[in-house]
Amino acid sequence: MREPVEVCASACEAYDYEAVRAVLAEQFRLLKAEELIRPGMRVAVKPNLVTRSAPDECAVTHPVVLCAVVSLLKELGASVVIAESPGGPYTPALLKGIYEHSGCMKAAEYGAELNLDCTWGELRAPEAKLCRSFSVITPLLEADAIVDVCKLKTHCMMGLSAAVKNLFGAVPGLMKPELHCRFPQKDAFGTMIADLCQALHPVLSIVDGITAMEGNGPTGGRPRHVGALLASRSPYAVDLACTEIIGMVPETIPPLRAAMERGLCPRTAQELVWLCEPASRFAVPDFLQPESKSADFITRLPKFLQPLAARLATPSPQIRTAECVGCGKCAESCPQHTITIRDHKAVIDYSNCIRCYCCHEMCPKHVIDIRRLSLFRH
Ligand code: SF4
Ligand code: SF4
Repeated sequence: MREPVEVCASACEAYDYEAVRAVLAEQFRLLKAEELIRPGMRVAVKPNLVTRSAPDECAVTHPVVLCAVVSLLKELGASVVIAESPGGPYTPALLKGIYEHSGCMKAAEYGAELNLDCTWGELRAPEAKLCRSFSVITPLLEADAIVDVCKLKTHCMMGLSAAVKNLFGAVPGLMKPELHCRFPQKDAFGTMIADLCQALHPVLSIVDGITAMEGNGPTGGRPRHVGALLASRSPYAVDLACTEIIGMVPETIPPLRAAMERGLCPRTAQELVWLCEPASRFAVPDFLQPESKSADFITRLPKFLQPLAARLATPSPQIRTAECVGCGKCAESCPQHTITIRDHKAVIDYSNCIRCYCCHEMCPKHVIDIRRLSLFRH
């Protein structure tokens, strides 16, 4: 079946509930959401709640966007559950803390259930290229439909974190590092993410791009105003639209490239059909890219040079030791178990580091930088 290429990109300047809801209501109408969400359906909304973070830090989907989506789904007659597995251990207590800190408890006032069931099951992926079975959290497995409500962010490993990458949060907590270990190379990891996206098959993907995260996302970057909300029936199409806004070459984003190779996503944003305005209308020319983008040139080198170039040019995580509080969150999330805590400070053994940047993502103090050799700096 042909993947949809229609994308809504609309102006929305602030997190004002009425304004956000009005924009999303129009996008639901244009995308004919009523064909996808029927009365009585159990819909799982998958936000990006990667870590315990307040909305103004821009690492998580803003609660106003979440509440507006919940309200529209309820209006269509669905029952709604908010379902997410953040990084780190997947426990009801930690989940509750993240709901509270991110402001998304508010979604309960609009009729959503906030999932606290920390069980999971197996999701088969028969069409997968690389990974044919995933552990996935129960509310996503049991839903009649999934609505992906993500944040527009950069991502140190994958380049872009929007609708497709957001679905990695379907994998329960500490099982995520296992997948990093199985697929340590960026391309393989991106292919696995595309496999997961195909298997979960969200019916609607909505991107909170009112204030995005630029620089070293998905948790260590900084807020950047964009003023846009985007939506599509296709997570690939809406991600392709996002590349127009933040100035990334689509083929350098591994999950998008994997989707293009399978014919699930056009190769250029010019092939998308804009139902509102073109995404280029919201382009931010000087949107700050993650440090890790410097290593993208490696794939264009002759094969025999790539391992050496990768070793030299791929940025490394570097801990600002004086500011490290020794909490151990980085060690807990490291798929290679290559971080130890000594004298209340984290220490990385680089001989086993696969440059997945999970430690950078999970450090609550943001004291792990992503640095490349000075030779490869601008
Ligand atoms: S997560 Fe950050 S603060 Fe905690 S031990 Fe690791 S580097 Fe230090
Ligand atoms: S040290 Fe950090 S970047 Fe290296 S493997 Fe561990 S989590 Fe990944």
